[in-house]
Amino acid sequence: MVRIVRFSAGEEPQYGVLTGDLDEHGEPEEGATIVALAGDPLYVGVKLLEQEHRLEDVRLLAPVLPRSKVVGIGRNYAAHAAELGNDVPEEPLMFLKPNTSVIGPGDAIAYPRQTSDLQYEGEVAVVIGRICRDVPPEQATDVIHGYTIGNDVTARDLQRSDGQWSRAKGFDTFCPLGPWIETDLDPQHFADGVSVRTYLDGDLVQDGSTADMIFDIPTLVAHVSSAMTLLPGDVILTGTPEGVGPMEVGGEVEVVVAGLGSLSNKVVQR
Ligand code: MG
Repeated sequence: MVRIVRFSAGEEPQYGVLTGDLDEHGEPEEGATIVALAGDPLYVGVKLLEQEHRLEDVRLLAPVLPRSKVVGIGRNYAAHAAELGNDVPEEPLMFLKPNTSVIGPGDAIAYPRQTSDLQYEGEVAVVIGRICRDVPPEQATDVIHGYTIGNDVTARDLQRSDGQWSRAKGFDTFCPLGPWIETDLDPQHFADGVSVRTYLDGDLVQDGSTADMIFDIPTLVAHVSSAMTLLPGDVILTGTPEGVGPMEVGGEVEVVVAGLGSLSNKVVQR
């Protein structure tokens, strides 16, 4: 397992590799450290420096700043499509979130005054590793840098009233990503998939599995790249399982994906 973090130790953001194992909650075990890297491994590969920090002494940042776009996939779990009264799409349903919506682990989700129904959507996020287009599904893993966790925060009322989703899913802070990029684990490698769980103020509200995606990750990479060139650092959000619901100011939302860790964010008034 290689876990790439982006972190701040009080100065300029740096990249690093997280050492140690995760406990059953997806949290790093006691004594975890970060070995700093020379530059962004997305562009220069993993070059370890002789510089190590204790995890508790640094602040983790969004592990990737999407260079051009975050591509969202809507209704990719049948039970979620049904809970919002929608049919399952015949091909992947794409939308865009601006890269300015990205925040990191522990950063605040800002509740905008324009909505009164701000919802979480816990998801697996695919980080693209190289420039590509028209990628066949069987070559998708070649263009994937790794995986992280995403929360496709959505103003549900604006999604309905606007008729298209740019505003509802595009506000600043509406794309928490993190806590790191796992470059080795493929969340669909296992026949049963891996669990995608969301907790709101500690209560389990989403409990899905990547095995239940309608379109698997290689199909999504092929579909998106058949429409638009993907750049290193672009992100594809792979859709959310059932159980979406509202968040309130003062609340905390945590998305846990088995093998990928845990992404927590609090909600504040914008
Ligand atoms: Mg979503």
